[in-house]
Amino acid sequence: MAATSLPIGRASILPLPHIYDRVSRHIPAIEWPALADDVAAILELKKTRNAVILAHNYQAPEIFHTVSDIVGDSLALAREAINVDADVIVLAGVHFMAETAKLLNPGKTVLIPDMRAGCSLADSITAADVRGLREKYPGVPIVTYVNTSAAVKAESDVCCTSGNAVDVVRSLNAPRVLMIPDEFLAQNVQVLVPEVEILTWAGHCEVHEQFTPADIREVRESYPGVTVIAHPECPPDVVAEADFSGSTAMMMNFVTQKRPRQVVLVTECSMGDNIAQANPDIEFIKPCNLCPHMKRMSLKNIRHALETLTHEVTVEPELAGRARAAVERMLAVRPR
Ligand code: SF4
Repeated sequence: MAATSLPIGRASILPLPHIYDRVSRHIPAIEWPALADDVAAILELKKTRNAVILAHNYQAPEIFHTVSDIVGDSLALAREAINVDADVIVLAGVHFMAETAKLLNPGKTVLIPDMRAGCSLADSITAADVRGLREKYPGVPIVTYVNTSAAVKAESDVCCTSGNAVDVVRSLNAPRVLMIPDEFLAQNVQVLVPEVEILTWAGHCEVHEQFTPADIREVRESYPGVTVIAHPECPPDVVAEADFSGSTAMMMNFVTQKRPRQVVLVTECSMGDNIAQANPDIEFIKPCNLCPHMKRMSLKNIRHALETLTHEVTVEPELAGRARAAVERMLAVRPR
């Protein structure tokens, strides 16, 4: 029930009613007072700690719409991290995102509320693996997805995100590139950049690899005319069944600009939830899958992180310098 449609009197007794308005489609009014206590504490702690919260698009609405200062996809968070004017950055996302924020802000304290928030892609490759690839393919540039550890980035020539992977590959002007570690992203980029031979690594996102072409066909049968948008971490045969494919930011832009009547976002579930609040005229159809790593973030552990200044993410300076160079090369690439 939306706050604006609550019976008169009931809405007015809800704490932080102006903030509840932003999440009312997803959080029942009865659950809000307990969450509002943490929201109020976090807003106060942000002031006393001079802290900002960066939240990925896959964060749950009660984090995304209430306490976050900067929201976006990996590319946006990396870009915005450079301009952050604060002593403390809390990363509501996964560990590699916190590392990237630290690389770009070596003098700031970067916190992640739960150190266990990992990523199957980041876990799929090590720095030693990258050195092995360099030996095997001498002279072939290595493009590394940001969903990797700082140690892997440090062995790479340039990073990319799902939002700029095509531009990064084209910017190299090389006949052959290694694109690691997401095999499906690399295969999807290969379709768009046929003039370059793209060598891949067998890493997968555990959330997006679960989708199948049959899922898309089933949803199209059940909802004739539905618009299907797939993240490029999905297998290529899933992307081929979709009407559009792009990063989470590109998905959001597509939905808000094209305004399909019914849409399926073939990605992590919170994406649809986060767009739905501001777009009540669009029906968001499941399926979607949850990322267990992203869902380790909660208002409770964000509050705890700010109260205790834990868990701090650090990167050894020499390694950080090399990893930062790969991220900065990516940020210097302009769309063609
Ligand atoms: S959604 Fe996939 S790529 Fe993103 S953090 Fe989760 S496991 Fe990693």
